Parts: sequence; C-alpha cells; structure tokens
Amino acid sequence: MEIIDVKEAVERMKPKRPLASASGKYGACPCCECLISKYEPAHGNLIIKHCKWCGQALDWEKEKTDNG
Ligand SMILES: [Zn+2]
Repeated sequence: MEIIDVKEAVERMKPKRPLASASGKYGACPCCECLISKYEPAHGNLIIKHCKWCGQALDWEKEKTDNG
C-alpha cells in the first residue's frame, strides 16, 4: 500500500521559479536541482512548465523589462 505524501504533491503543483542560469535558457529545478532547459525543442520550443525529473511546476517569470 502506498501512502501519497499530499503535502509534497501540493508543493510540486505550485509553480516555483527555477534557478535560472545567466543565459536564461537553462535552469536548475528548485525541487530536485536537476538541470533543465527552459525550452523544449522537440515540442516547438515551448517553455517547459514542469520539471521532467520530479514533476515540479515551474514558473519562468519573464525578466522585468524596466532595465534601462
Ligand atoms: Zn525537479
């Protein structure tokens, strides 16, 4: 019998900001810290919304456009 950790599941459903690299094309999952790419070339360069490793929801917030 499996016990699902609801708390953990809920946490993963909440979008978290990836630890983005300087280029902004890659980041690290805030949950499992695995390297993830922001875009998925196999899917028309769509922005990845979930970590493919642990399922953590990701929120790639756009950088503020008021830098200058
Ligand atoms: Zn992850």
